[in-house]
Amino acid sequence: MNLLPRRYHRIKEVLEKRQPDLTVLTEDVHKPHNLSAIIRTCDAVGILDVHSINTTDEFPTFSQVSQGSDKWIFLHTHPDTKTAINHLKSQNFNIYAAHFTDESVDYRDIDYTQPTAILLGAEKWGVSEEAASLVDGHIIIPMLGMVQSLNVSVAAAVILFEAQRQRLQKKMYDTSRLDGERYHNILFEWSHPNLAKIYQEKAKKYPCLGENGEIIQ
Ligand code: SAM
Repeated sequence: MNLLPRRYHRIKEVLEKRQPDLTVLTEDVHKPHNLSAIIRTCDAVGILDVHSINTTDEFPTFSQVSQGSDKWIFLHTHPDTKTAINHLKSQNFNIYAAHFTDESVDYRDIDYTQPTAILLGAEKWGVSEEAASLVDGHIIIPMLGMVQSLNVSVAAAVILFEAQRQRLQKKMYDTSRLDGERYHNILFEWSHPNLAKIYQEKAKKYPCLGENGEIIQ
């Protein structure tokens, strides 16, 4: 199918707002509708990479809740908590666990314009003790009602839209924040997914794109 200029410009516009230094790490979030809802929120906030620790054999498949947003997000899976946290630390992320402890601070007190990863815990058990001890801080969304916690995807949305608010205020969505090579590769893959697979199979570099996304040989 031919790429329409309008679709190409929409893809470009979305990619130019993606924030490579804002991410989410889910720890054994196992219900497909929750993971899908988190991914959909990440797309809306401008997150490109989502990390997921999955210590069970089965990985939750995407449900209709994602509305196809999983196509526009890179989901990186990690076998265990320590590996995932070390990976993010090696990329200079400050990692905050959404977690109820005596040390927890209000989620609005964090500076999300710095490289930030939000760790979200499992539906029933929350954040593990291991993860809680490895991160840079704990944050909470104050709860003033009878129930003690929010659904994990709701908690993700509340925190991530605060991050979006801070980043909008700092004009971090105004110019592309991806490095040139990654930007070019993703733009090609999103615009020409079938062709991209052929180039990958042949281990060839993607060609340049013209003003309306057409391939320049
Ligand atoms: N019983 C679990 C506990 O004590 O943590 C509840 C887990 S909650 C349903 C699932 C995840 O959502 C939590 O691990 C946390 O990451 C996030 N969450 C839910 N409500 C939150 C809140 N008010 N503040 C911060 N994180 C919250």
